[in-house]
Amino acid sequence: MPVRATKRGSERTPFPSDAEADVLICGASFAGLAVARELRASGARVTVLDRYEIGERQTSACAAPAQWLEALGLQDAIRQRFDSLVFHTRSARARWAFGFDYATFDYPELCRLLWEQCGEAEFETAKVEGRTGDVVHTDRGDIHSPLIVDAMGWRRVLGTGVQPPEAPLSRGLEVHPFASGPDLEVWVDRAFVRAGYGWSFPAGEELRIGIGSYEPRDHVKDPTVRLAGHVGAEPVRYQGNWIPHRMRPATEDGVFFAGDSAGHCIPLTAEGIRTALYFGIACGRELAAVLDGRQDREAALARHHTFCAAHEWKFERMWDLQRLIPRLHTDVLDRLVGFIARRGISHWSFRHYWNIAPPSFALPAPQRARTPAARLAA
Ligand SMILES: Cc1cc2nc3c(=O)[nH]c(=O)nc-3n(C[C@H](O)[C@H](O)[C@H](O)COP(=O)(O)OP(=O)(O)OC[C@H]3O[C@@H](n4cnc5c(N)ncnc54)[C@H](O)[C@@H]3O)c2cc1C
Repeated sequence: MPVRATKRGSERTPFPSDAEADVLICGASFAGLAVARELRASGARVTVLDRYEIGERQTSACAAPAQWLEALGLQDAIRQRFDSLVFHTRSARARWAFGFDYATFDYPELCRLLWEQCGEAEFETAKVEGRTGDVVHTDRGDIHSPLIVDAMGWRRVLGTGVQPPEAPLSRGLEVHPFASGPDLEVWVDRAFVRAGYGWSFPAGEELRIGIGSYEPRDHVKDPTVRLAGHVGAEPVRYQGNWIPHRMRPATEDGVFFAGDSAGHCIPLTAEGIRTALYFGIACGRELAAVLDGRQDREAALARHHTFCAAHEWKFERMWDLQRLIPRLHTDVLDRLVGFIARRGISHWSFRHYWNIAPPSFALPAPQRARTPAARLAA
């Protein structure tokens, strides 16, 4: 197992007993950093916590629409671009054109670039253990904040807990051999996984080959090894995680949730990066409005909740497809895959899918408003 970069031993000093922040963001991955980025012009004391250093623990294949990454100024992290997806069933193979580009990216670099856009926010490594009212408890002590965000992924640490295998979670595991390829590839084939899919995503000098199972009780290690063998790659450098496939309330008992903690991961495809960015930005904008006095915390909670809930029907339709596709007879699946390969159909389908969280939502990082004194001096 890799040793993760985090503060250890004597470096892990306790927080001061009166530690406080205007906004406390727990989790420094896609959702948490997207929230912090929206607050960079607020002038508020923003603290971001994670149990590891920023960018330290990659848990995904890191494929996202290139336009999302470009809109956020993260294009330097891109490793490879794709305008189509090669789709395999047991007996069919088809190429689906996106009508836009997906890109695989380098996780540590993307997190570093996002963090650079977070202005004066402070970062601390600490394991968040729970909360009492406005106080968050960590292994380094307590921090008080009136505005608390849980962006810590599927566990929903600061809300009603979620436990596999009973909870609506998929499981994903992948290997990262040093190898290369030209195409994003996906397999829907029961020879690999009963309900779910396999993938091989090239990212420059590595392939990210994995299996996602919608059934949390089904093990994914052997299928991942088999798929790696099928692709002709070594099953090395493992990583995996649970993946939520139903939306959860985006607020609970005064806490804001964004990303996987709120189930903001699209069912069927398990695409959760652009949605973590999208709902993280939405959450950050509500918090920014509290900090500059345009609304109070209760209004922000209500607006964030309503905004996220308004997307739920789209997630539910994807959830219907997640249940339907594994049940399709192989012949029907083969015909469907061929039908979607028609350019007009694939562009139409991906356009609808894209609109679940379009990149037009991402704007350049907010600029700090000039103070009256600075304006006079200019
Ligand atoms: C194998 C696999 C492959 C995937 N591939 C893709 C893909 O290619 N494209 C895509 O769009 N989605 C993919 N996903 C889904 C995607 O990874 C998630 O939806 C996405 O990471 C959610 O982002 P997040 O910021 O909400 O949470 P996370 O990325 O899970 O980040 C949570 C953060 O919180 C921190 N944290 C957790 N608990 C604590 C604690 N107690 N105290 C302090 N910090 C804590 C973690 O260290 C982490 O930094 C994949 C998932 C898996 C499992």
